[in-house]
Amino acid sequence: MPDRGSNPTTKHPRRVLVTGGAGFIGSHLCDQLLAEGRSVVVVDNLSTGRRSNLPATHEDLSFIESDVREAILGPLTHETFDEIYHLAAAVGVKLVIDDPISAIDTNVELTSAVLRFAARAGPRQSPAPVLIASSSEVYGKSTKTPFHEDDDSVYGSTTITRWSYACSKAIDEFLALAYHRQRAVPAVVTRFFNTVGPRQLGEYGMVLPRFVAAALDDAPLTVHGDGTQIRCFCDVRDVVEVLPRLLRAPACHGRVFNVGSDTPISILDLANRVKLVLKSKSSVKMVPYAADYPVGFEDLLRRVPSLDRLRDAVGFEPRFSLDQTIVDLAESINRRDVSALQSSAHTAVSKGNTR
Ligand code: NAD
Repeated sequence: MPDRGSNPTTKHPRRVLVTGGAGFIGSHLCDQLLAEGRSVVVVDNLSTGRRSNLPATHEDLSFIESDVREAILGPLTHETFDEIYHLAAAVGVKLVIDDPISAIDTNVELTSAVLRFAARAGPRQSPAPVLIASSSEVYGKSTKTPFHEDDDSVYGSTTITRWSYACSKAIDEFLALAYHRQRAVPAVVTRFFNTVGPRQLGEYGMVLPRFVAAALDDAPLTVHGDGTQIRCFCDVRDVVEVLPRLLRAPACHGRVFNVGSDTPISILDLANRVKLVLKSKSSVKMVPYAADYPVGFEDLLRRVPSLDRLRDAVGFEPRFSLDQTIVDLAESINRRDVSALQSSAHTAVSKGNTR
């Protein structure tokens, strides 16, 4: 019998907690968990997430608008869960540079609180399986390629604020692995590389939604530096598909996994790809980092994951091409009718000239 989300002992749907579930990745994960028949509780303070990312009403969805720490000490204190996905965080280097105190506090304190809660949140106060969202930023400015999960991290000075995001995520990982070792919490760490797709906002410096929004307006696409920085972009719907499979595999507990695409593209090529797919008249404008980032800001030239561990553990075959993701993101931005673009993206996919 396929697992339809029912708990065989109680016949009740499995209960899942998603922190940051109104955010970009979290809301897609909720879509998937609800489609599986899970009963989903979302805690989100809507600082960067949007309530409209989730279904307005759904009999298996409960939404708690709250800081995660307050929810754990309040309405959730005596609740039990079969799975916990911790995605709430201050996300992205730009947000961290703008308000480092709150970003560092949010990332470290929330994860600490969630792991303490997970240690007793399962049935009869047993530990509940918990997935902790980390970031490729954890590799820092290592020049190795591709990145393997056990590689060294290389950070800049503490006087350069941007490294605090990487360090806060690294502390989250240390905590998750320590709770697994010391308190037998079935914890999995996922290091997300650039995750993109519908509902993503460009306001926090995320490159693809910025490009897509500009292209839809035929406005210039701003590329920082010389555009040769290499990144790998994975559709969020492919990313969320693999998360429950990792958390439900006992062999994955106590381990760290890269999650993303391993197909590299330069930022300049990405800008031109967006223009092409969206048939935009935009120009590409090269600007120095200093125009938008503080003096001393360091960007990384190349960030490519090894996906060997992920593929060995649970298998991973992304379904969405970059062109399809661009079209779907454009549609979600909803600035103009892009339905005509669908067919050309499909054509590009079938010719295999994407990603
Ligand atoms: P997001 O900003 O859309 O989602 C984060 C969510 O957390 C938002 O809905 C926000 O309102 C919520 N939140 C923040 N602080 C909170 C608090 N104190 N209490 C309750 N809710 C709070 O970002 P995302 O891209 O969906 O990121 C999800 C996770 O994935 C984060 O942990 C992030 O660090 C990680 N990540 C994302 C990417 C990416 O490419 N999108 C890359 C690496 C890592």
